Amino acid sequence: MSKNNVEVAVIGGGAAGIAAARKLTAHGVDCLIVEARNRLGGRAFTVSHPSEHALDMGCGWLHSADCNPWVAVATARGRVFDKAIPPWGRMTMTDIVPAETQRAFRQAMGQLFARVSEAAATGIDRPVSDLLPPDGRWNGMLNAVMTYIAGAELELMSTIDLDRYEDTELNWRLVDGYGAVIAAHGDGLPVAFDCAATRIDHSGKRIAIEMPKGIIEADRVIVTLPTSIIGDNENLFYPALPAKTQAARGLPLGLDDKLFIALDGAEEFESESRVFGRTDRAGTGNYHFRPFGRPMIECYLAGRLARDLEAAGEAAFFDFAVGELTELFGASFAKRLKPIALHRWGSDPYARGAYSYAVPGAADQRAILAAPVDDRLYFAGEACSRFDFSTAHGAYLTGIQAADRILAGLRKT
Ligand SMILES: Cc1cc2nc3c(=O)[nH]c(=O)nc-3n(C[C@H](O)[C@H](O)[C@H](O)COP(=O)(O)OP(=O)(O)OC[C@H]3O[C@@H](n4cnc5c(N)ncnc54)[C@H](O)[C@@H]3O)c2cc1C
Repeated sequence: MSKNNVEVAVIGGGAAGIAAARKLTAHGVDCLIVEARNRLGGRAFTVSHPSEHALDMGCGWLHSADCNPWVAVATARGRVFDKAIPPWGRMTMTDIVPAETQRAFRQAMGQLFARVSEAAATGIDRPVSDLLPPDGRWNGMLNAVMTYIAGAELELMSTIDLDRYEDTELNWRLVDGYGAVIAAHGDGLPVAFDCAATRIDHSGKRIAIEMPKGIIEADRVIVTLPTSIIGDNENLFYPALPAKTQAARGLPLGLDDKLFIALDGAEEFESESRVFGRTDRAGTGNYHFRPFGRPMIECYLAGRLARDLEAAGEAAFFDFAVGELTELFGASFAKRLKPIALHRWGSDPYARGAYSYAVPGAADQRAILAAPVDDRLYFAGEACSRFDFSTAHGAYLTGIQAADRILAGLRKT
């Protein structure tokens, strides 16, 4: 641990923490990131594949790219963007799922979102599943798609929160990885690695962050921990902050795990194409063929399905994907597949999930979670964002907001 006495400690070195610490440091604030892992980035995590392809196990898409602050960061670092239209924005694999069927599904999706807006406008929150047509042909697949978007099934999700999410529908990627650029933005910042905060004692004049390795004291603290960690530990703060614990519990992390599979003879398939394992159930995989034109399949397995697979162990992911893909492409397809990489976010002790959704009635908990306490304990992270929650750019913006609040208090803006 490099130092144990600072003006501002930022707990968590993910997108929010890095953005906050970078801004504070630029304004001459003595600041330290306290990070449980031995790396920066958190849920932004790029790994290298032996073929030298960068694989984003966490965030991969720069959503709302026309107003996403990571675009400027990546541009300044000379990173190469891929601006191909994502598979969900066009028709693909029409030989497997006819264009007409794909159009019918899109229409059902559009109708669901229209009903979400109408229902949210009433101000009465309810589970999104209430808005599905009874016995609707597309209910299973609508649920499946929401598990990739929000990590959870529609019956768990707040209509008002979902309606607040903003997206300009411009989605880019980075050839060398989104996670890699987010972590690189932390280069040179002071970080205490392998330091998992177990208690944040704000009873005294200075705030004490307790960890197995010792104590760090700070005048101000920015907490960027995932809601899973805040909600599961009511003793995290001393004195306790029940409003924060409750807010975090109303904003649990859904689950989305990515499995990359090498595909022999991949050229047979169009680049950036996509198919679902099934169109009639929520528990199915979303298979993105040849991302960036690479000879692989990026599989998204989410919601309850991902929880069940995590419980069954690592091999269960590949087995499930092979099972669905051979149903679609024939038994011999299995011989062309080889697992490359998987990250199980639900079993990751410092994430315990993928991204936050609000349970019905909890949409306003995002503001409660984000509110500072006594002008010295600040909160940031994707779940604190009212409109850009669940994203890396939402996390960035909340980190900047917390840093700006501190700078305003210190009159350093
Ligand atoms: C599979 C997957 C796909 C995704 N796809 C996209 C996408 O395409 N586009 C997009 O914008 N977003 C995507 N996201 C979401 C995005 O990655 C997150 O919203 C964002 O990275 C969250 O940043 P954060 O700083 O709020 O939290 P985190 O990244 O979780 O940062 C919190 C940090 O706190 C640390 N920590 C935890 N416990 C402790 C402790 N006790 N003490 C100290 N430190 C601790 C963690 O290690 C972590 O580094 C995806 C996420 C996943 C998992």
